[in-house]
Amino acid sequence: MTVHYLPGAARRRPTAVIVVAAGSGQRLGEAQPKAFVRLDDRTILQHAIAPIAKLDAVDSIVVVVPVDLMVRARLDTMFGKPRVQVIAGGAQRSDSVRAGLEYIAANNPETEIVLVHDAARPLTPAAQFGRVIDAVSGGRRAVVPGLPVADTLKEVADGSSVVIATLNRDALRAIQTPQGFSIDAIRRAYADPSGLATDDAGLAELAGIPVDIVDGDAMAFKITTQWDLRVARIVVAESSPSELP
Ligand code: C5P
Repeated sequence: MTVHYLPGAARRRPTAVIVVAAGSGQRLGEAQPKAFVRLDDRTILQHAIAPIAKLDAVDSIVVVVPVDLMVRARLDTMFGKPRVQVIAGGAQRSDSVRAGLEYIAANNPETEIVLVHDAARPLTPAAQFGRVIDAVSGGRRAVVPGLPVADTLKEVADGSSVVIATLNRDALRAIQTPQGFSIDAIRRAYADPSGLATDDAGLAELAGIPVDIVDGDAMAFKITTQWDLRVARIVVAESSPSELP
C-alpha cells in the first residue's frame, strides 16, 4: 500500500472499509441473500461498493459475504480501484465484522482507520464516506452518520403494546453507516466477545469510547423490507448515472 506524504499537509492515514454483506436477508424474503438481489442490472452489493471504489482516501475494501457466494462476489466486484478482497462472514453481523478485522490485521497491518458499512445501504453517497473519514482523520475515535428523527417515538413495555413513555425526539438521531473508527478504537470495541449491540459504535460506547455524529443522508437508507427494495429500485431507475453514488 502506498502512503502519500504531502508537504505541509496532514499525512493521509491508511484506510480500510469493511462492507458487511453476509446476511441472509430473511426479512426481505427474496430467493437469494439480500446483497445479491438486483436493483437494476447491478446487485445491491455492486451498488454499495461503487462509491467506495471511487474514493482516493480508501486503500482497501474488504467485502464479507456468505461462504457459498464468495466466488460469485469476487466476479461481481472485479472493478474499480483499490482492489476489493472478498472473505467469508459469520452467523451474526458482529461475526462478519470480526472476520473483516482479522483479515485487515493479517493482510493490511498498516491500516489506521477502519470504516464498517452495511451493503444493505447501497445508495450511500461517496460524500458520506468522506465526512466519516475526515472526522476520524481529524482525531475522533468513533464516528457515525446520523439524521434527525421525523416520527414521534414511543417506548413500549417489553413485548406489549402498552406505551410507557414518549421519547424526546429532539435528542434522538437515526444512525446509519459507514461507521468509522481509529484502528485502536475498533479493536477495543470488538475485544469483548460477549459484547452485544445493534451497531459497531454501540460496542465502542460499551468499551467507554466517545462516539461522535456527523451528518447522515436520506439516500443512505437501509434496505430491509420489500418496500425499501421498491424505493431503492425506483430511485435507481429515476436517477441518471451521474446522480447515483
Ligand atoms: O440484517 P441487517 O440488514 O440488519 O444487516 C445489516 C448488514 O449486515 C447487511 O449488509 C448484512 O448483509 C450484514 N450482515 C452480515 N453478516 C451477518 C448478518 C448481517 O454481514 N451474519
